Amino acid sequence: MDIKELDQTYVANTYKRFPVALVKGKGSLAYDDQGKEYIDLGSGIAVNGLGIADDEWMAAVTAQLGTLPHTSNLYYSEPCAQLAKLLCEKSGMKKVFFGNSGAEANEGVIKAARKYAAEKHGKDCYTIITLENSFHGRTLTTLAATGQDKFHELFQPLTPGFVHAKANDLEGLKALAEKVKPAAIMIECVQGEGGVLPLEADFVKGIEALCKEKDIVMIVDEVQTGNGRSGCYFAYQTFGVMPDLVSTAKGLGGGLPIGAVLLGEKLKDVFGPGDHGSTFGGNPAVCAGACSIVKRIDDALMADVRKKSEYIFSELNGADGVESVAGLGLMIGVKTKKPAADIVAGCMEKGVLVLTAHEKVRLLPALNIPMPLLEKAIAVLKEVCKE
Ligand code: PLP
Repeated sequence: MDIKELDQTYVANTYKRFPVALVKGKGSLAYDDQGKEYIDLGSGIAVNGLGIADDEWMAAVTAQLGTLPHTSNLYYSEPCAQLAKLLCEKSGMKKVFFGNSGAEANEGVIKAARKYAAEKHGKDCYTIITLENSFHGRTLTTLAATGQDKFHELFQPLTPGFVHAKANDLEGLKALAEKVKPAAIMIECVQGEGGVLPLEADFVKGIEALCKEKDIVMIVDEVQTGNGRSGCYFAYQTFGVMPDLVSTAKGLGGGLPIGAVLLGEKLKDVFGPGDHGSTFGGNPAVCAGACSIVKRIDDALMADVRKKSEYIFSELNGADGVESVAGLGLMIGVKTKKPAADIVAGCMEKGVLVLTAHEKVRLLPALNIPMPLLEKAIAVLKEVCKE
């Protein structure tokens, strides 16, 4: 059997895969089983932040694999502690819990917020307001948090205690908060799966002020926006706010699974022994690799990300067949006149990998994509978008 047949026979049918089997890559180039080369503007959905098989990341992971690839959380291990320190320095948060995915990170922030609210405001204070059109993951609780009905239909009953507010409608959100007396408000600063839609700065700032005033926990989901993707280490820094809890994953691991719950000053000690845990959370090999990634997401790289972002916006805004361009940093959604699926297929044929988000074409290139490759890929995209 070839790869496609093997997969279709034995792998659960949860993904609508593109007709390509990728077998290797380096940096922003990927290769399929026929030897065809692609410029990668998807980064494994914002995971390969510093490109595929980054040398420093591989060296850090393989060194750790040769010493202690795994130990349980019953023992201290340096990579996990070092990574937590680095993340606190980058974020202004105070403590970190490690899991293995974005959804698991969101489960963690939800548990932390509920425990804080139960202790502070009583056990009836558990409702979390999230936004319509949001995406927070695929577990039953993070699906409940996700404000898109299409994901809910056949999986009832979901975890209770989630209500959804309209994005960018601060008065509406305040009225809802008055009614439900929430434990927390949870947002993505840029709705990723929802179509790459940045929230308005006044709305995000208004949420921060409301949360401070009413002792509501402010949660920012940085699973996709985090780790340099937005042009700042975290997207909330672009908006000039300081949340109480942050979840992140994807780009943090450089290609290996990891998720993190970042606890700010107010909630730094909310978890005690036994409150939460994960067998693989804080895995030494994954954390050693993540340290090598986080260290390099510095001011110089962020300036470069913002420059590349401006380049993409300026090339695509007003281009033939392009209706609009939205996003932040290297997380960009392009509304095209032709259906997004046709653009993806057209680009793929010409050796460029792009993604979709709702009705848009989504671009998530590696943060360090070399400029000549980016220029070549954007030229292909423009050509394919032409009517
Ligand atoms: N939150 C956001 C904002 C996401 O974009 C995603 C995944 O796309 C998730 C959570 C879920 O992450 P994971 O697929 O790692 O569980």
